[in-house]
Amino acid sequence: MTILFKTTAEITQESMQSHLTHTFYVPEESQALSIDFQFAPDILEDEPKQKAIISETLKSYNLFPDNNEIAPLIDKYSPLKNLLTLSVDDPNGFRGARHCHAPDQHITIAEQNSSPGMLNGALTSGLWSVTISVHAIVTDKCNFSLAIKSDIKQTEDTIRIPWFNPINISNFPENKLEHIIAPVCGNSSEYVWKAAELHTHTFHSDGQQDVAEMVHTAEQQGLDVLAITDHNTTSPLREMEDQLNRTSLQLLYGLEWTTFFGHMLTFGYPELTYTDWRKLGPTDVHKGLEKIHELGAVAGMAHPFRIGNPIGTGCHWEFKMENINDFDFIEVWNGNNPSPSFYNQQAMEFWTKLLNKGYRIPATAGRDWHHNNDPQAKYAITYVHMPQDTKDFRKDFLQSIREGRISISYYSVLSLAIIQAETVYTIGETVRKDGSRHQLVMTMQEVPVHATYKLVSNKGLITEGDLPKNGIEIPLSSESLTWIRAEVYNQEKELIAFTNPIYFKIK
Ligand SMILES: [Zn+2]
Ligand SMILES: [Zn+2]
Repeated sequence: MTILFKTTAEITQESMQSHLTHTFYVPEESQALSIDFQFAPDILEDEPKQKAIISETLKSYNLFPDNNEIAPLIDKYSPLKNLLTLSVDDPNGFRGARHCHAPDQHITIAEQNSSPGMLNGALTSGLWSVTISVHAIVTDKCNFSLAIKSDIKQTEDTIRIPWFNPINISNFPENKLEHIIAPVCGNSSEYVWKAAELHTHTFHSDGQQDVAEMVHTAEQQGLDVLAITDHNTTSPLREMEDQLNRTSLQLLYGLEWTTFFGHMLTFGYPELTYTDWRKLGPTDVHKGLEKIHELGAVAGMAHPFRIGNPIGTGCHWEFKMENINDFDFIEVWNGNNPSPSFYNQQAMEFWTKLLNKGYRIPATAGRDWHHNNDPQAKYAITYVHMPQDTKDFRKDFLQSIREGRISISYYSVLSLAIIQAETVYTIGETVRKDGSRHQLVMTMQEVPVHATYKLVSNKGLITEGDLPKNGIEIPLSSESLTWIRAEVYNQEKELIAFTNPIYFKIK
């Protein structure tokens, strides 16, 4: 047997007429659940108190006898009892209830022979809940204990975490789909770069600044776009609305789903919207994504390789993923000074392997901006390439993110283009190979001293060298290439900028 959930609590009369719901995960292999529930005391032993409660109740309901002979009535209603009952919900809804006065209950739920009050059936894996309905508490205090067990075998771990499922690249099949986004090719001449910060926290969760202060700092830092993504709350978004007409910045409604099984950034809602993560179990992330997309926003994994439970609670990505194409992006660079962090390097490697397997998932960066206490900290900007003449900024910005028109840099924009005949293909676009020669152009507005570059592809490193001030223009042999990206390193060989790929397709 494995304990799935266990709790004890002391409740008082103030808890009367409330439901105490406990939600927990039932793993796939479970065939039977058993629920042990006890409460004590179950009756009121204190006779004067019993008499007082019964008298008062009789008066309240106009049942007090005219002859004032309440002794028989006291006997009739004694002893007064506490009443706590249980009901159960599985991922599909109501699964049964046990309304009885027993202060010690053992309930079984299974395919067959479930306890009275419970419905027979297979145990669907996912989030279940047991609700204790507190009908009456007549004693001063009442203690209950609740334990829910599955028939699966107990593990011997020092700390038992119900769900543990870190990302494993070998579980991802080759991507057979061309791509969910129809690639736009070679018509982006009227596109401009927008500097964005897509991962921020205010004092409404664990950040230190208010929205106005963050907007002010973002303006000073030359940003164009700021998504407000507090942990699990939309309350800063009201403050954000106050800023909309006071700033030239484009502000985006967002949220960082800070779940038990991974952090997911979601932003770009057309209006102030809360999307709920609390009813989703570790195998339900696609339901959440579907809802977010229905509402018009985008979502991606945040810092997927940061240390996980129980230290970095939910920081490591562990949701079960059926199809990674459902995500709009992966935040491969997280936090201040992102480049040397081991967990970001793992994210970069994961992303690269996904590209090699034929996925076209965009990469973003996020400062995970909580405060301004370290003015020396370096941070990366997510530059997004989008139409200059936009009639709907939010929509076009999100579309550019989905298409991977993104370049990430500590400094100015690193841009990459491939010229085939007369057509210029930029980041996120797909070169339709027609057999003609390719020129590759890479530029950075301000090149740091002694910077070097690498051109990286599904074939590994293509070429590297010093990055001159005016960039490079070289011929490119695209044979057997499916994607290519540019990376720039500083004097200390630290990666300081990288582009999302340009993709290739044989005509
Ligand atoms: Zn996070
Ligand atoms: Zn965060």
